[in-house]
Amino acid sequence: MKTIGLLGGMSWESSIEYERTINEYVRGQLGGSSSASLIIRSYNFSEIHGLQEAGGWEAAGARLAADAALLEESGAEIIILCTNTMHRLADQIRAAITVPFLHIADATANRIIEAGESKVGLLGTRFTMEDDFYVGNLEAHGLDVLVPEADDRTIVHDVIYNELVRGIVSTESRDEFSRIASSLVARGAEAIIAGCTEIELLLQPDDVSVSYYPTARIHAETAARAALK
Ligand code: GLU
Repeated sequence: MKTIGLLGGMSWESSIEYERTINEYVRGQLGGSSSASLIIRSYNFSEIHGLQEAGGWEAAGARLAADAALLEESGAEIIILCTNTMHRLADQIRAAITVPFLHIADATANRIIEAGESKVGLLGTRFTMEDDFYVGNLEAHGLDVLVPEADDRTIVHDVIYNELVRGIVSTESRDEFSRIASSLVARGAEAIIAGCTEIELLLQPDDVSVSYYPTARIHAETAARAALK
């Protein structure tokens, strides 16, 4: 079994679900008392959030890249970054390592394509919904991507940073996300991507009327499968 290096804590609310999903997958495959071989670098998210707000992407990328190299030096044979938003810095991280870096949008797009779907609604942070690094990646896989209207993008972004990364999960926000997902479906989305690793802590498959793609779970399963290959 290969060792997986995780760049996590963005936020830890979702990183612990990565750890759980990977370990459950390994136990399911190998049985007994088997569990995954992991090395985790978990950040103080307020520092990362501060860099995002200040537009300090280059500095954040340098930090993630240096830590990815440390994970590799410590024995990681696969590296994953446990957040969609920070995949904006995927190229900087890839350039610092020689082991495979499994991109969260690739893992998700592959799952959607396998299911034969092509028109997707994307929920995530403002960075993920509005900047090209993420939508462009999904489009490069041949997917047609819809994002919520401006007011709804603000609601989704604010709930992520003011509630979900702080461990607050409320019925009101679940209803709002469900309404926003429905409006994407009304515009033609055949599937909804929870394109922020905390959204799946709030929105469940039953809260949407079409297929639902929880990126943290898909990404973690993809890494676990790769580790056992
Ligand atoms: N975890 C979130 C994501 O998947 C948002 C927090 C962050 O900015 O990293 O995008």
